[in-house]
Amino acid sequence: MTDRHEPTWDDLAHWGRRAAEWGADYHRTIRERPVRSQVSPGEIAASLPEAPPEEAEDMETIFSDVDRLVMPGITHWQHPNFFAYFCSNASPPSVVADYMIANLAVQCMIWQTSPAGTELETRVLDWLRQALELPTAFHGVIHGSASEATLAAVLTMRERTLEWQGNQAGLPGQKPLRIYATAEVHTSIDRAIWVAGIGQDNLVRIPTMGQLRSMNPSALDDAIKSDLAAGQLPAGVISCVGGTSMGASDDVGGIARVARKHGLYLHVDAAWAGNAMICPEFRHLWAGTEEADSVVFNPYKWIGGQFDGSVHFVRSPEDLTRTLAIKPVYLKTHGADGFINYSEWSIPLGRRFRALKLWFLIRAYGLEGLRRRIRNHVAWSEELAGRLRDDSRFEIVTEPILSLFTFRLVGKDDADQLNFVNRLNDDGRIYVTQTQVDDRTAIRFQVGQFGTTREDVMAAYDVMVELA
Ligand code: PLP
Repeated sequence: MTDRHEPTWDDLAHWGRRAAEWGADYHRTIRERPVRSQVSPGEIAASLPEAPPEEAEDMETIFSDVDRLVMPGITHWQHPNFFAYFCSNASPPSVVADYMIANLAVQCMIWQTSPAGTELETRVLDWLRQALELPTAFHGVIHGSASEATLAAVLTMRERTLEWQGNQAGLPGQKPLRIYATAEVHTSIDRAIWVAGIGQDNLVRIPTMGQLRSMNPSALDDAIKSDLAAGQLPAGVISCVGGTSMGASDDVGGIARVARKHGLYLHVDAAWAGNAMICPEFRHLWAGTEEADSVVFNPYKWIGGQFDGSVHFVRSPEDLTRTLAIKPVYLKTHGADGFINYSEWSIPLGRRFRALKLWFLIRAYGLEGLRRRIRNHVAWSEELAGRLRDDSRFEIVTEPILSLFTFRLVGKDDADQLNFVNRLNDDGRIYVTQTQVDDRTAIRFQVGQFGTTREDVMAAYDVMVELA
């Protein structure tokens, strides 16, 4: 028996306040921390007890162990000098909403398990559809991640092509299904193809063209024709806008015309760049997306609608639900059919009330507040690229696409570029990552953190010069 006081709901206000103060303090002092965690592999694990506690422990002790044991192993994704990967940025209103979501802890799987969850999701996603100026034909659903959205799209391609027999009959005995994309797409596309049972060999890589490394529409047309002639089953095309490595962006309009000609489903992965499409001046980058069958973007990658949550707009919810809906008796909503049950639009049954985060976010900043951030980030990224271009120690490898560009140290080999990345990240003042462009290692830099200022971005230049 323990004589410790086990926490109850009566203690929530106290611990909630503690957590809120801890969070505010964390953000107030975040600039004092190295961006990338500086621990060695195994260091955190070695400091944790090997066996779980048998008796209740004091919350105060657990709380102080966060600072002592956990924080050294945290890479600070909300740090204003986080220029690595794409951001996973939070904003104060979305953090507050997430705490409220955790309190409610509802499952928004069918309408009746929380009508507000469903109806807020429908409304907030329509706000975002309007913000992106997508046609009214698009209907949105929130998945946990872009990987899930793309898997849902690939499964829909598969089922449409197999005339809705794949889920029932499986794939044995079928002709090979073929899906088309460039080498610039994110690995979540490969994984969706594996999981859907289509197989990596049937992900057909189409050559790219131009500075944006867009899929070549006539090469796509040729590949589809050649597969048809070989008796294979073309099923769909996956376009990328704002690819992960250097921002590659397809000519979606040109690809949509080819896809339509062959009756193929077109999915657009704009996980990062889609955020920027709330600004009319950047929409040329995804022109033609209005012709696609679906498009995904992650508000957590740029506009501060903190992870998790990925917005998937589909032209035909009927095709999506025909692919994914499964209705056991215990999920039947007697008398309430005709409402949306979002679990029929996505892969997991359980669904958090993620729409609340987006509702807080959009209301607390307004679209104009969010646009201002995107515009600043793009401008600061271009300014920094300009300074590096003018500096004989650096060369630009790929010009900024929105707020992402890549560069190299002049006259150094690939190993030197990697050493430079490590030196920057070990130093801790900024955090960047590397990529591969045309078989050369390049340093990748993107601006996207919610609290980043122009001074932060310009200070990154000083750090690079100092450590180059
Ligand atoms: N698509 C692109 C272009 C990405 O950059 C990423 C991740 O960085 C993803 C998809 C995968 O996103 P998620 O982690 O939400 O599955």
